[in-house]
Amino acid sequence: MKICSGSIDGRPVHGIAVGETFQDLTATLPDVNDLIAAAIEPDALKEQSAQSSVARSMADLVIGPPIPRPGKIICVGTNYAEHVAESDSVTEAPGHPMLFVRFAESVTGHGQPILRPNNSMSFDYEGELAVVIGRPTRSVPENQALAAIAGYSPFMDGTLRDFQRHTSQFTPGKNFDQSGAWGPFIVTADEVTDPSDLRLTTSVNGEVVQSASTSQLIYGIARIVSYVSSFTTLLPGDVIATGTPGGVGYAKEPPQWLTPGDQVRVEISDVGILENVVADA
Ligand code: MG
Repeated sequence: MKICSGSIDGRPVHGIAVGETFQDLTATLPDVNDLIAAAIEPDALKEQSAQSSVARSMADLVIGPPIPRPGKIICVGTNYAEHVAESDSVTEAPGHPMLFVRFAESVTGHGQPILRPNNSMSFDYEGELAVVIGRPTRSVPENQALAAIAGYSPFMDGTLRDFQRHTSQFTPGKNFDQSGAWGPFIVTADEVTDPSDLRLTTSVNGEVVQSASTSQLIYGIARIVSYVSSFTTLLPGDVIATGTPGGVGYAKEPPQWLTPGDQVRVEISDVGILENVVADA
């Protein structure tokens, strides 16, 4: 099942994409996080949607981020060995997952422009797998952590490298308005055969720049969810981006920064394709 959000005729909506049909569940489940929580039981949600959704055409939907304002967007840094090796800020994988956060305003949806600000030119791509939490979760052991996940989505952790490096804290460089993206859908967990072995490919203008398997994550999905839940209560609709593989633009010689008109595509097997074009802010 594919969960998505956006607007129809300027009205915010969320629901389920079934082929060319959008099953609008906004009236039935007004809080998008309740839709995400329901997706933990996909068969029941399918039935509810068949009975109580309003059918619209996908062509009428302007797609936005799958959840417009997630309660938390938590990102894992330096979580693939190749990315650690190309990084100039760390020399070895940290002893615990390295975390930072993004604000809701910093990410947009599939097909929307991603913005290069006017005060930084070092705009870089990071293709990632994001997981979306589906039930309240605190102190979950690793062997039960996957049961907390409602679904998965491609994520582009767009970064302004100079601002990322102003200090040891990543917050400014990871939070420029609309510098990242995710979607188009949250694909429910029952449709993702093995989240620990998904093919992740990032392309810029058709050229493959990152290619890896999620089996190469230093801290796997269950470990990340367990670790985050050890200090905060994860809630339905919270998002965790799991880190980017090697091949980012700053590590190339010379650095390959994104410029207006560039098309960035993040493709993940079973999970979908996220595409955005860079524009000036
Ligand atoms: Mg990242």
